[in-house]
Amino acid sequence: MSECLFCKIARKEIPAALVYEDDDLVAFKDIFPQAPVHVLIIPKAHCEGLADLTPETAAAAARIPQVASRIAAEQGIQAGGWRLLSNCGADAGQTVFHLHFHLLGGKPLGGKLCQ
Ligand code: 5GP
Ligand code: ZN
Repeated sequence: MSECLFCKIARKEIPAALVYEDDDLVAFKDIFPQAPVHVLIIPKAHCEGLADLTPETAAAAARIPQVASRIAAEQGIQAGGWRLLSNCGADAGQTVFHLHFHLLGGKPLGGKLCQ
């Protein structure tokens, strides 16, 4: 999966504004932010999305809510509230096929998940 954009970011072959990293996960600012805080949290190991979890990526992904909460606190949006979501497949609008969760906050995000 050497051509995968987010694999390249995880390997530091493409620059990104990293906000968190551990052995299995990395988080970085979205290049086209949809909110004042818009961070992408990914497992370093490649999988396409939530429909393609392997035991390794599932174990890493299970820690993402906890990491998101930590980043939310560091980014100053814990009190205001935040949203964590992952788009899976075409109807969800997934555009990068390396599992990622969007952490969004810093403004009222609206109540609707779809239109
Ligand atoms: P998706 O649409 O797959 O749920 O989300 C992909 C996200 O990746 C989008 O929000 C998009 O702005 C972001 N993105 C695409 N290319 C890059 C990039 O090269 N660097 C960063 N930091 N974010 C990217
Ligand atoms: Zn990848």
